[in-house]
Amino acid sequence: MACNHEHCTGHHHTKDEIEEREEKEERKKEVILYVIAVVIFLVTFIPIIPEGVKIAFYVLTLVISGYELFLEGIKNIFHFKFEEDTLMTIAVIAACCLGDFREACLVVLLFSLGEFIEDLAVEKSNKHIETIVDMKTETANCYKGNEVVVVPVEELKVGDKILIKPGEMIPVDSKVLSGKSQLDTSRLTGESEPITVTEGQEILSGNSNLSGSLTAEVIKEYKDSTASQIIDLVYEATNNKGKTEKFITKFSRIYTPTVMILALAISLIPILLGLDAKTWITRALVFLVASCPCSIVISIPLAFFSCVGVLSKKGLLVKGTKHIEALAKAKTICFDKTGTITTGKMVIDEVSKNEDRKEFFSYLYSLEHLSNHPIATSIENEIQKQEWKKEELLQQVLQQEEIAGYGMKGIIQGKQVLFGNQKLLDRYHISYEDDLNKKGVYLAVDGKLYGYIVLKEEIRNKAENLKAGLEKIGIHKIVMLTGDSLEKAEEISQKIGGIEVYASLLPKEKLEKVEEFKEQDKVIFVGDGINDSPVLATADFSISMGEGTQIASNTADSILISNQIATLPNIIKTAKSSMKIIYFNMIFSLLTKLIVLILGIAGYAPIWLAVFADVGVTLITVLNSIRIYRK
Ligand code: ADP
Ligand code: MG
Repeated sequence: MACNHEHCTGHHHTKDEIEEREEKEERKKEVILYVIAVVIFLVTFIPIIPEGVKIAFYVLTLVISGYELFLEGIKNIFHFKFEEDTLMTIAVIAACCLGDFREACLVVLLFSLGEFIEDLAVEKSNKHIETIVDMKTETANCYKGNEVVVVPVEELKVGDKILIKPGEMIPVDSKVLSGKSQLDTSRLTGESEPITVTEGQEILSGNSNLSGSLTAEVIKEYKDSTASQIIDLVYEATNNKGKTEKFITKFSRIYTPTVMILALAISLIPILLGLDAKTWITRALVFLVASCPCSIVISIPLAFFSCVGVLSKKGLLVKGTKHIEALAKAKTICFDKTGTITTGKMVIDEVSKNEDRKEFFSYLYSLEHLSNHPIATSIENEIQKQEWKKEELLQQVLQQEEIAGYGMKGIIQGKQVLFGNQKLLDRYHISYEDDLNKKGVYLAVDGKLYGYIVLKEEIRNKAENLKAGLEKIGIHKIVMLTGDSLEKAEEISQKIGGIEVYASLLPKEKLEKVEEFKEQDKVIFVGDGINDSPVLATADFSISMGEGTQIASNTADSILISNQIATLPNIIKTAKSSMKIIYFNMIFSLLTKLIVLILGIAGYAPIWLAVFADVGVTLITVLNSIRIYRK
């Protein structure tokens, strides 16, 4: 039986809707209670009301708007937790003891207002993140014989045949067998324009099928599929946020007692010296309230997390908030060429004049058929174009080895066969003429040059202005580090505006270059291949291409799911402006606190002003953090 889409996903919708409705009800209740509390508080300002009634009204205001705060605060006091609830509760109790009820009410009302708006802001930020993570389908339509059965996505195996109807999400990474449709890829790439897919094309989980039914073959199980990996990454990023929070908890273990002791000192020493007790207790309370670090504790992780969220929307998945700073600070960026600046879809442009072209390709195909390198695909495509049978071409290869940065090596029918760049020829002492086509990839059989192919590559979509775009946002050194020949490297470099080129590099040499650049500036490295993974691990911030090899994605700090290097200037700009917001929040919070502290101890700031400053600063910084979503 086929899965009815409305039924499958409709269920989740109603569940979400119920939750949302409950949240709204809750919020409405909060607002009504708050308004009642404010009205009761305002009544106390009417002069003719007797003092006793006023006190009753104050208490009512405190209870209505502050009972949650007090519950939490009193609990915290017993647990020696230094949070804003604790401070506010101490401040309110102390103010009441001093007979300053109006002040106590103001503290509670201001504090609740701040909390309320903060909640709204944080919730809004979570909603943004949810839309990113919302790319999993629970079930898929799987063919069992001629029947279509609904199965959980986790049960799909490589090679299974699945049906994807219009309106459904692609459940796992797969390859279209039949059908034609448009896909909405915006969740992965941020690109709003739908793309058309047909037979033979790979489709990634997390994209939605818009127009036609597709039959496809599963090429990756759910846990290895794009959607699942993105979801894991987003959670990984959240866990890293957890680390910041842990730090803050540790920090407050020292901070709390220090502040408490200082506050005690500020009130007790003057009293022991015979000064006015009420004045100095009030000043100590101002000090206590003002030293609450909540604006920093709330707004900074929020800003980092918002930034990670926005970057995912733009196609870059960052594995944790701790990497953002390096991305923002980088002044040097290094690119790999093949598969990074170029699309990785190579086309054979020229083939050397060989006696037996079929035998030539038989060697190439046998060596490359297990490789993930773009060259391997170009050879398969050529074979398809020539309508040769792959089974006829495939020969047994012994001691096959892919030498990163050089090429392939193996033994076919007792002969040593090499296929790769000029460096590979040199390494195995294969002699060649001086007029060798420098742009080629060469085949040597039994120690002799046999033939070569020249590959045509294209730069990625809209990458023509990459250099200009990067320079505009303050990246002053833009470099290509490639294992390919200088001739090919220069050709591609010119197409993106002419950047610094280092060619014919081995993986080790790529690493040395990046280490050298790191001495000057923070360095971003963008790459895709096996030969890039040492560099990806070394750079200050590393980006692996979404289409890149698994090992590259595992090592890098981030994955450019969209593969659109043209968006990098915009992505770096987002990181930069997020860091600006974070620095502003820190400095602004600390400065205001300092001013209030000084005013408080000098006796110029009442408690409510300290609360106002605290709530106000928290609000401003939180809203400032949320602003990242608007950029
Ligand atoms: P980069 O991505 O750094 O530009 P590559 O990983 O493509 O460089 O490797 C550099 C060069 O080594 C290629 O241009 C090619 O000539 C050769 N090479 C690497 N891997 C292979 C392979 N599997 N088959 C043939 N040649 C290869
Ligand atoms: Mg590469």
